[in-house]
Amino acid sequence: MRITFYGAARTVTGSQHLIEVNGHRILLDCGLYQGKRAESYDRNLHLPFDPHSIDVMVLSHAHMDHSGNIPNLVKSGFGGDIISTAATHDLCASMLLDSGHIQENDVAYVNKKRRKRGEPPVEPLYTQQDARDSLRYFIGQGYDRARTIAPGVQLTLLDAGHMLGSAIVVLDIEDQQAPREVRLVFSGDLGRAGIPIIRDPRTVDGADVLIMESTYGDRLHPPYEDDEKRLEKIIQETYKAGGMVIMPAFAVGRTQQLVYSLHQLASRGDIPRMPIYVDSPLAIDVTAVFRTHPECYDADMLEVMRREDGHNDPFGFSDLTYTRTLEDSKRLNFLRQPAIIISASGMAEHGRILHHLKNHIEDPRTTVLITGWQAPETLGRRLVEKQPVVRIFGEEYRNNARVEVLNGFSGHADRDELLGWVDAMQRKPARTFLVHGEPESAFSLADSLKQRFNLPVNVPEWKQSFEV
Ligand SMILES: [Zn+2]
Repeated sequence: MRITFYGAARTVTGSQHLIEVNGHRILLDCGLYQGKRAESYDRNLHLPFDPHSIDVMVLSHAHMDHSGNIPNLVKSGFGGDIISTAATHDLCASMLLDSGHIQENDVAYVNKKRRKRGEPPVEPLYTQQDARDSLRYFIGQGYDRARTIAPGVQLTLLDAGHMLGSAIVVLDIEDQQAPREVRLVFSGDLGRAGIPIIRDPRTVDGADVLIMESTYGDRLHPPYEDDEKRLEKIIQETYKAGGMVIMPAFAVGRTQQLVYSLHQLASRGDIPRMPIYVDSPLAIDVTAVFRTHPECYDADMLEVMRREDGHNDPFGFSDLTYTRTLEDSKRLNFLRQPAIIISASGMAEHGRILHHLKNHIEDPRTTVLITGWQAPETLGRRLVEKQPVVRIFGEEYRNNARVEVLNGFSGHADRDELLGWVDAMQRKPARTFLVHGEPESAFSLADSLKQRFNLPVNVPEWKQSFEV
C-alpha cells in the first residue's frame, strides 16, 4: 500500500491524500490550496495526479480546504463516486456554488488587469456550473455504516465533532499484496468537546496507519464554557458603553455556533436584549442545511428543540434578524443603538464584514470579536495584532475598537485533545503521519507523540510518498 501527500503537507490548506491499494486509487479530500493568488491558481488548476486514474474519493468534511477543488477534479476527468456524509454533501451544494461564483469574480478582476497589459484572458479555476455538475458525483454515507468502496476496502465514517457532517475516515483494508489486514485512519479535522450543536469527536479503538491533523499541535485552548462566559461579559460591557459588537465569522459552522450560544445567553437573560444581525447570504443558506440534519445533533441541541418556553428554535429568536439582500445589509449602516453584527468573511478579507468594520472601527465604544484562526496578512490578523491603523477598501482607518479573541470557540482539538485522542486507541498505530499543520505545530506534536507513546511519526513534505 502506498500513501502520497498531495496537500496539507506542512501547511493547513489543500488537503489531498492518495491511497493506492489492491490496484485501486482512493483520494482522501480534494481541498483548495489557499495562499498568494497566482501561486494558488496554478497549484489548484494543475492537479498533481491524473484525475482519470482515481477510482473513488472520500470527503472528510465540507470546509473549502478539504472540498474546494472537487469541481476542478470532476471537470478534469474524475469519474468515480465522492463519498461523504449527507450533511457534508448538502453543505457542499451551497459552498461549492458560492466558491464557483468567487472563482468567476476573481478571474474577471485578474482579466481586467491582463487586458490592460495586452495579455490573453485566463479561465476561472471552475465556474458555478462546474460546481453544480460535480454535485452529481456525491454519494451519502451515514455515520457508523460500513461500505465497500474498492476491492478489499471497507469505509466507515465516524463523527469528528469538527463541524456539521464532519467525519473521521476509517478504512479497513485486506491488503491482497502482503497479504494482511490493515486499518488506516484519517482524522480529517478533529473537533473538540463542548462545541454546541454537534456531538463530541468519536474515539477510535485502534489503527495501524494514522494520518492525523496537527493544526493546534503546539497550543492549548480554554474550555468552550469559559469562553462563552467571556463572550457574555464582553457583550455586557460593550452594551453598557453604548457600542456595537462586530464579529467576523465563517458563514459555515462558526456563525451557527455563535447564533446558538447567543440564543442560549439571551434566553437565560445573561446578556441584555439587543438586536442581533446575521449579515451573510451564505450563512442563511447554510443555516437551512443545519436545520435538515438532526442526525448530527448532540443531546443539548435536542433538549433545546424540546423547550416549551418559545426558545425551541436554536437558530431563530425574536432579537435575531438574518439579512439577505444588499438593501437590508446597507440599512445596518444607520444603526445607532448597541447591536451585534455577525458577518463574513471570517478573516475579514472580503464580503460585507468590511463595511461594518469601516463604519465602526474608529469608534472606541466598538468591540471587534474574533473567534477563529486568522491567517498572516489578513485584516483579521492585523486586528488581532491591534495595529493602530488598518486599510479597508484601500483607505486608512484608525483602529480605536476594543479587539477580543476567543480561542475557545475553535473547531479544532488543541494539543492535549489530539494526544488524548491517540491515547484512547488501544492499538497504537505502527505508522503515523501528521498533516494539516504549520511546520512548528506539526513537529511539536510529533515530538509529543514520540515522547508520550513512543510512536514513529513522519511529517510528510508536499508530494512525498510512503510505502506502508
Ligand atoms: Zn475543517
